[in-house]
Amino acid sequence: MAGGVELGFAEPVGPGGAWRLRSAQFPSKVGGRPAWLGEAGLPGFDALRCGRCLQPRAFLLQLYAPLPGRPDAFHRTLFVFACRGAACYRLPGPGGPLCAFRSQLPRRNATYPEEPPSEEPPPLPEPFPRRLRSGAALCRVCGCPGPRACGRCRRAAYCGPEHQALDWRRGHRRSCGRGGDADATDDAEPDHNEFLFPEYEILIEPEEPEFPADSSVDPESP
Ligand SMILES: [Zn+2]
Ligand SMILES: [Zn+2]
Ligand SMILES: [Zn+2]
Repeated sequence: MAGGVELGFAEPVGPGGAWRLRSAQFPSKVGGRPAWLGEAGLPGFDALRCGRCLQPRAFLLQLYAPLPGRPDAFHRTLFVFACRGAACYRLPGPGGPLCAFRSQLPRRNATYPEEPPSEEPPPLPEPFPRRLRSGAALCRVCGCPGPRACGRCRRAAYCGPEHQALDWRRGHRRSCGRGGDADATDDAEPDHNEFLFPEYEILIEPEEPEFPADSSVDPESP
């Protein structure tokens, strides 16, 4: 790393740009559901609980930050989760409301091609995945691993009881067991919900120095 400063700007993407925030594009983003990089070792329900109030933390942001010199970190993403409870930021004590995870992969891996992803939008809109490529289910509310299934329809997946209850109130009580495939029918696209932070793409640009880094050298002088 050259030691320069990079700035991230949060920009809304709109429905037509949602594909840029999917895992295959190695996005940096704020809010919405996490676009997981690796599929092994994802943080589970207990790792994502706030250390203060024990509620699930919400995905806050992820930064794609590969280490070019490190073969084992050809892809590297940092994930930050934050408790939704404002009071948790004022309480002292161990186990805070924030937590961070790192995920990294070598260039040759089981999930992504070795070549960079296409910069063209896909021909068909890709809904946010309900499952990892491995088949493991993701929570319908927060997009974190969802090993808990709705007891009635056995199809809706959740990280834990809080999000199962939230989704039930938000409408799963009406769609549950209505037949068809929960992966593909009325609620195919998991929408935004009050648990998630608003979603933005992070565009990263090098900082423009206001003054030359070495002020003893004036590039303007003849
Ligand atoms: Zn909390
Ligand atoms: Zn969840
Ligand atoms: Zn159900």
